[in-house]
Amino acid sequence: MAIVEREVIKGGQPSIPETQPEPSRERLPLGPIKTIHVYWLAGMSCDGCTISVAGATNPGIEGLLAGTVPAMPKVILHHPVLSVEAGADFVRSFADAWEGKLGAPYVVVYEGSVADERIAARTGGYFCAMGVEAIKDGEGSRPVPTATWLGRLAPGAAATIAIGTCATWGGVPAAEGNPTGAMSLMDFLGKDYRSAFGLPVINIPGCAPQGDNFTETVFAVLLFLQGLGPLPTFDELGRPAWLFRDTVHQGCTRAGFYEEGIFAEHYGDPQCLVEIGCWGPVVNCNIVQRGAINHMGGCMRAGGICIGCTMPGFPDKFSPFYKTPPGAIVSTFAARSVGAVVRRLRRLSNREANREHRWDVTQEVPSGWAHVQAQSGTDRAIKFFYSVWQHLGAKKPGRPASETERFWGVDRPGYRSDYIDGSAAREDSDDRR
Ligand code: SF4
Repeated sequence: MAIVEREVIKGGQPSIPETQPEPSRERLPLGPIKTIHVYWLAGMSCDGCTISVAGATNPGIEGLLAGTVPAMPKVILHHPVLSVEAGADFVRSFADAWEGKLGAPYVVVYEGSVADERIAARTGGYFCAMGVEAIKDGEGSRPVPTATWLGRLAPGAAATIAIGTCATWGGVPAAEGNPTGAMSLMDFLGKDYRSAFGLPVINIPGCAPQGDNFTETVFAVLLFLQGLGPLPTFDELGRPAWLFRDTVHQGCTRAGFYEEGIFAEHYGDPQCLVEIGCWGPVVNCNIVQRGAINHMGGCMRAGGICIGCTMPGFPDKFSPFYKTPPGAIVSTFAARSVGAVVRRLRRLSNREANREHRWDVTQEVPSGWAHVQAQSGTDRAIKFFYSVWQHLGAKKPGRPASETERFWGVDRPGYRSDYIDGSAAREDSDDRR
């Protein structure tokens, strides 16, 4: 097989983080964009990112494609799996964009990591390719690596978006010992890369990423390119800051268990999963707040531990999976010690909060479901001091002592005439006048 000749885009070392994108104002569109092309390229990918984006709901991909999302240009998607065109017809548009014949702005989206095609070329092969093109001197045709397409299209793109952890940080294909030299878009394009509108690579990590994280970011970037919105905030690694600022743990539905020092021992237990391998406290991800699809699911909600799949250190720095992270040993010890005290105090308050005020007065809980433990003397004493402290400097609910007897009967709260058992007393009514 002929050796693929291609433009070599220098794959460098990991980029030095940029703190802010630098949009080139003079190159921003002057008026609203009616249509925008999106060129989707796949490197060393499992297509999981495509599936995630197909499931996005807010906004949904179909709204962007149909041009029905307010303020959004109509998106023309060129996707190796989803597009209707095939073969040369499909690849033609990519070449048009590269050659500047498109007549409309475009965005490049890359899914999967970028293989070092020089390695494959040594044996006359390739790792990931899309389409073929003629080789000079009539030697037939050759597959075009998607890395080559990336190198051709990225400089002219309005924005280049890496979707999924393989594209953002290399991910599983770039794990230690891989034979492909797989790398992220940042590593491939280098730290000096800027899109035609002055943006470094935008990174939306996750394995697979949430589709809504992607469509929302695209929405925000398109609003900016339309001149209708500010440049969205990205963190120093090019992640949408509003989506990846917090850790999984900070938004986890199980974090209350962690705080009280209660930990799951087995999968399926409802408590915090840190002791069976959850890395959530040190992982930037919004999976629990946003859910996987349509605000449903998400790792911890579904009982799964966090294995750090959104992080640049994934997977090597989080392996072996399903083992207690060493750092968790210190924090769980602290949480257990403090949590044991806090938990007991909270149970007291919780028991108290589970009683109506009326039940405290009558010393009886009229529940037909079960016997409810009466307030002990200790409970009453705690309640007294707690209440004094609680209402210090504030008005305590209730009436002045002088009115109490008038409004509270001796054996039953309220007026006797409030009851329908015929015990209404005229004097009560008289008293009210
Ligand atoms: Fe934090 Fe993980 Fe526990 Fe959730 S399950 S509270 S993310 S350690």
